[in-house]
Amino acid sequence: MSRIEAKNISFRYKGNKNILQAINFELHEPCLVGLLGPNGIGKSTLLKCLNGICKVEEGKIYFDQRDITCYSLKELAQSIAYVPQNTYVRFSVSVMDFVLMGRIPYSSYCYCSKDYEAARRAIEETNLSAYQEKDVRKLSGGERQRVFVARALAGMPKVILMDEPTSSLDIKNSLNMLNLIKRLIREREIIVVMTIHDLSLAGLFCDRIIMLKNGRIWKDDSAVATLTEENIKAIYGVNTRVNIKQGKVYVQLENKICDTIEDI
Ligand code: ADP
Ligand code: MG
Repeated sequence: MSRIEAKNISFRYKGNKNILQAINFELHEPCLVGLLGPNGIGKSTLLKCLNGICKVEEGKIYFDQRDITCYSLKELAQSIAYVPQNTYVRFSVSVMDFVLMGRIPYSSYCYCSKDYEAARRAIEETNLSAYQEKDVRKLSGGERQRVFVARALAGMPKVILMDEPTSSLDIKNSLNMLNLIKRLIREREIIVVMTIHDLSLAGLFCDRIIMLKNGRIWKDDSAVATLTEENIKAIYGVNTRVNIKQGKVYVQLENKICDTIEDI
């Protein structure tokens, strides 16, 4: 089983103060990890540190116990896939050709049968077989999200980093997406780290939640242990009512939601 570790990492964008400080965690079994915290706290930045897009100044990221800066770009891309928040596509491309791009870390000049096989499998797993020849730009937001997940899967990664995979989806498509992610984790035995704002969905689906506050990890535990009324208030300044039924966390807004909103 693969392992990804953040050891005491700090990060800042050039000319700015530290955004992330002394971040430590270790993931070594198939699971869905939710990265939570208010806007601008550094969730997307942390995802980008994990696959080396953002170069950490202090500390190290290890994949399978090897510093990620010691991997070639190709090697790293074969192991850790990234699904961006924005799934806008600038050019005309079929679903199959787009998903095949996930095989670039393996191919030299042209795709071989193994590449097509991996792309076809990814397309099937994301229920996109009927759309293979369609232009990605002509798909709905939910379908396009699945195409991006399929492109990540085609590269046969051990870890997938997803930046708000449900942000542009309606509630049904959000549930479908999270069910799909959970199924992929089970079947492919992969680790998925995702940022998510919807606390109810995080409570229902995440195996583990990492909460960020002031650039640091504030809580890192199960959904039941992290998504408490006190913790949510401390992080977001919002009053909620949390119920736990059969080990699942249900988060509801309270009557007086927060100090700045009097009534709805
Ligand atoms: P989150 O995903 O939690 O909303 P981000 O990781 O996107 O937060 O951003 C964290 C902070 O870093 C924000 O203050 C944001 O303005 C800043 N930031 C993000 N990207 C850049 C960048 N490329 N250059 C400089 N600052 C950035
Ligand atoms: Mg973000």
